[in-house]
Amino acid sequence: MPDIRILPDRVANQIAAGEVVERPAAVVKELLENSIDASATKIEIEFRNGGKSYIRVEDNGLGMNADQALLCLERHATSKIRKASDLDQVQTFGFRGEALPSISSVSRFTLRSKKNGDDQGNEILINGGKMIHVKECGMPNGTRIEVAHLFNSVPGRRKFLKTEITESSHIIHLAKLYALAHPRITFSLVDGSRTIFRSPACEDLLDRVREIFGKSLAESLSTLDIKADAMGLGGLLGKPGYSRPTRKEMLFFVNRRPVESKTMSYSLLEAYHTYAPKGRFPPAVLFLKIDPSLVDVNIHPAKREIRFREEAKVRFFLIESILKSIKELSGDRSLPPKEIELEKDSSGQIVPKIEDHLLERFKLARPSDNSQVTRGRSEFALPTAPSGEKGVVENLTTSTPNNFEPDGFSNQIVVGLRSDMNVSWRLLDHSHGDMAVFTTPQGIVGFHCRAAYERVHFEQLEDSFAKDRECASQSLLLTESIELDGVASDFLQKSIPELYAIGFRVEEFGRNFFRIQACPVWLNPEQALSYLKDFVEIASDGGGGKFEIYVKEAMIKQATKNLGLGSSFSQNEIVQLANQLLACRNPYTCPQGRPVYFELPIRDFETRFRRKL
Ligand code: ADP
Ligand code: MG
Repeated sequence: MPDIRILPDRVANQIAAGEVVERPAAVVKELLENSIDASATKIEIEFRNGGKSYIRVEDNGLGMNADQALLCLERHATSKIRKASDLDQVQTFGFRGEALPSISSVSRFTLRSKKNGDDQGNEILINGGKMIHVKECGMPNGTRIEVAHLFNSVPGRRKFLKTEITESSHIIHLAKLYALAHPRITFSLVDGSRTIFRSPACEDLLDRVREIFGKSLAESLSTLDIKADAMGLGGLLGKPGYSRPTRKEMLFFVNRRPVESKTMSYSLLEAYHTYAPKGRFPPAVLFLKIDPSLVDVNIHPAKREIRFREEAKVRFFLIESILKSIKELSGDRSLPPKEIELEKDSSGQIVPKIEDHLLERFKLARPSDNSQVTRGRSEFALPTAPSGEKGVVENLTTSTPNNFEPDGFSNQIVVGLRSDMNVSWRLLDHSHGDMAVFTTPQGIVGFHCRAAYERVHFEQLEDSFAKDRECASQSLLLTESIELDGVASDFLQKSIPELYAIGFRVEEFGRNFFRIQACPVWLNPEQALSYLKDFVEIASDGGGGKFEIYVKEAMIKQATKNLGLGSSFSQNEIVQLANQLLACRNPYTCPQGRPVYFELPIRDFETRFRRKL
């Protein structure tokens, strides 16, 4: 066996380079992080050929003097930590002091830097780890690093690089992430002669998203900011009803560091359970703030995957915060209801009192003059009545007396109680299957009647379940019987006590046979059998366990069965549905997460016509 030797620095650096800078985007990452650590307020990034032939990162940060510039190219030279215990409180990106020596060992590397206050800057040129020259140079404060011919001297590594397009897309994605995390830094990214983005310092994150991802993503996001004792969650969250085909717009940061985190992405998906359709993803830019000592950063330098020391706690906080925000965004009524005035309309039904100024604003007639005013809370008014808690939906044709339909629905226009969602819709058309089209002061609404029906029906079930869960039960006129296979029957048998608690009376009367004698009052007795069958199917598929979830999922299934629905909706039914929908906690998606309606703003029409309307 040959003698044991300590490797020369150059070889050690080249080996380390394989880990630290596996691809051009990793070089950009290291350089960018150094610039941010150096308190830069302006950073320019340029690359060519996917970064393989050229990368430049230039900043206006603190800069280095000649000694510091030489030292930073030595292995384990860092200004960021001094002792091992500092590792727990690392606030900067770097701390290993490995990046620059590694990169300079596998490229033609030029560093120019001038420290604030110095007269001159210095330029150091290194080729494949060999120092070529050090000389003074004139330059503004800050640091400019150029990396050319990456991995030329290590053909083995160069072979592993992907196509230019792939490498470019990695660099672009990475630069966008850092730009998002630091809206106050002016960023520009240039690929050869093409500017990918240029974003001046922004006041807030939403501006930055608009600058680098475009207007449409920005419009689908809403701000969140939640603080708890040891953690905080801020950033932007997709509004209910907006979803994306891929996870590309699910972006996560921990203490402003872009990360890959299963904990964070699972929490987001879990919270959005019924707010995004299956197979689609909510857009989100989430910043978790957490005590650095609770995060494991000291794992593989090139990987962004991180670990939390108190995984469960973080996950709980995330789900709770995201859910709270979605509920707020979708105007969930389970938040404290505001006190409202109620009145009896001409048919004797209790409806919210319509404020005079709203009648005036929407040019409506008061439904009934001899109204009796009572006081109450909003929940009383709504569950089954065709009423819109959040807005006015009216049938356009009702403005002409000839088209006045006999059921008198047009008299039941209900005016919004919530200031956050002042809508006024008029039905224009419903000639395309389940789609109806409304006009609103802001644009045109496409509305899916069946989806709306499902949402309304689901929330009615959910509401009465929540209200009556104590749990009143109603006898079925005729007991229903149900036969199941072995597994399902075993499961139902075990669930009888829990089902009893929510109002079902079920008993076994022979092998795999059950009798349903009563069902909860929140369920239409005609649906009792079908509900229970769905429940058993869902629960036995799910392997048992989460009773509450199965109860809900079976509700969703019932709601989507469209029982008692004709083949098409009449105008009045559509208007009634729209009113009921707008009173829902989440009017944006059907119970399975697909959109119920969307609005095309006038602005979009103006863009298409290329002139003002
Ligand atoms: P680390 O970031 O882990 O400390 P690096 O090899 O990336 O290691 O950098 C070594 C040192 O060089 C840093 O600690 C810092 O002092 C200095 N440095 C690197 N880049 C810059 C820059 N853009 N501006 C100012 N100082 C820098
Ligand atoms: Mg560094």
